Amino acid sequence: MSKNQHQARKRFGQNFLCDVSVVAEIIKLINPQNQDHLVEIGPGFGAITQELLSHCQQLDALEIDRDLTKHLQLEFSRHDNFILHNADALQVELNSLRLGQEKLRIVGNLPYNISTPLLFHLLKQIDCINDMHFMLQKEVVERIAATPGNKNYGRLSLMVQYHCAALALLDIPPSAFQPAPKVISSIIRLTPHAQLPFPADDFAIFSRVVHDAFNQRRKTIANSLKHLTDKAQLTAAGIDPRLRPEQLSLENYVSISNYVSNSN
Ligand code: SAM
Repeated sequence: MSKNQHQARKRFGQNFLCDVSVVAEIIKLINPQNQDHLVEIGPGFGAITQELLSHCQQLDALEIDRDLTKHLQLEFSRHDNFILHNADALQVELNSLRLGQEKLRIVGNLPYNISTPLLFHLLKQIDCINDMHFMLQKEVVERIAATPGNKNYGRLSLMVQYHCAALALLDIPPSAFQPAPKVISSIIRLTPHAQLPFPADDFAIFSRVVHDAFNQRRKTIANSLKHLTDKAQLTAAGIDPRLRPEQLSLENYVSISNYVSNSN
């Protein structure tokens, strides 16, 4: 089956890269090395797969669409460093792909409809990851990389930045894809912190504090979190209770959550 015969499936978020100069830019940014163990999520027709295969030890490709898997098998099975999985990336345990204790480099032009759950799924397995390069909607990249005070700053920024340094690298116009998406895309690099800058005593409580704080972002932090803590405790944790959720840093959220965990 060729690209022209394939009906792009919306439910799988299929927008295939067709601009060779963009492919070259992406490869340059990923900068694959011969010893790398790569995992490509959603290779589609393999727009970036060929180049990656030429510069890595092993590439595990996770593709959900059976028709595309057949195509990828025909196209790339002659490479003995290519391992194809007809699988839902949301279900894959990264540890099961590892040969030993090596850390994986995750790449992909992600299906936009599942990008947030996929990021959360990967963050749970951060110990297996060396770095991640993803193409996402620009708006999502802006949310991930946002800093306090920015209108895009919120739960996604905090949950990703808790684990990783986030760097927006490059915007890609809709014309680089077939079919063209309605929005601009961006490439982001996520590099797990060697050591967490602000470790939470209880990660589940940190997640809950962040979630509840941004549930009603117009309220003050004291109001949003009144079921978990009070003004006096916030002040004791070094936080002005009148601030809005988007004005607080990662360090502030970790302080609040540590205060909540230790006062329970
Ligand atoms: N990488 C290709 C490219 O750049 O041309 C295709 C990118 S397209 C935006 C997203 C790809 O992810 C499609 O091939 C789609 O079938 C695949 N996909 C969608 N949901 C998936 C999932 N849950 N697990 C694995 N692959 C998925």
